[in-house]
Amino acid sequence: MDSGRAFYIGRFQPYHLGHQFVLENIAREVDEIIIGIGSAQASHEQSNLFTAGERVLMMTKALEELSIKHYIIPIEDIQRNSVWVSHVISLTPPFNVVYSNNPLVICLFNEAGFEVRQSPLFLREQYSGTQIRHRMRTGKEWKSLVPQSTFDVIKEIGGVERLKMISNKDSV
Ligand code: NAP
Repeated sequence: MDSGRAFYIGRFQPYHLGHQFVLENIAREVDEIIIGIGSAQASHEQSNLFTAGERVLMMTKALEELSIKHYIIPIEDIQRNSVWVSHVISLTPPFNVVYSNNPLVICLFNEAGFEVRQSPLFLREQYSGTQIRHRMRTGKEWKSLVPQSTFDVIKEIGGVERLKMISNKDSV
């Protein structure tokens, strides 16, 4: 099936093999994919560890293997859900279908008249940003859950050390 240009959004904290699997599947159905990096303003938090630029870096290399044309666009959150779809549209190339599993995202795009398709994650318990950050914090193996590029970026920026540092409770 061919559907033109699709929009897929996630926080990608970090970008992992579950996301890659979803994108490979979407690539079979459309000509081009716009990937929105959600909560672009957030970083250096336990649940939002990486900056938008770091997430762009992780994804750009990993997606080189994907032969589909794609655009990676950081998108900051805004305070009003009712105008979020217009906010997204103002920042992205035009698209005619949305892929998401997030109930709020589905609701907002449906109400704006878009076709929304579900995009279930592959092996959800294993490939989860929360699970990967937990493994990084506790010194467990996580390299096998992410593309090599994500591993390289996290190593380059000292991501594990950052996570451990900001997870420390001030004892004073
Ligand atoms: P999210 O908050 O990043 O993820 C929510 C959960 O869904 C995470 O556990 C995530 O797993 C999981 N998930 C991601 N992709 C999935 C998939 N294909 N299948 C099953 N589970 C999946 O939400 P998101 O949907 O990925 O991203 C939505 C973004 O839009 C967020 O940045 C949100 O802030 C933004 N947004 C903003 C507004 C506003 O500003 N008013 C309104 C709506 C949405 P992982 O952790 O493993 O990725």
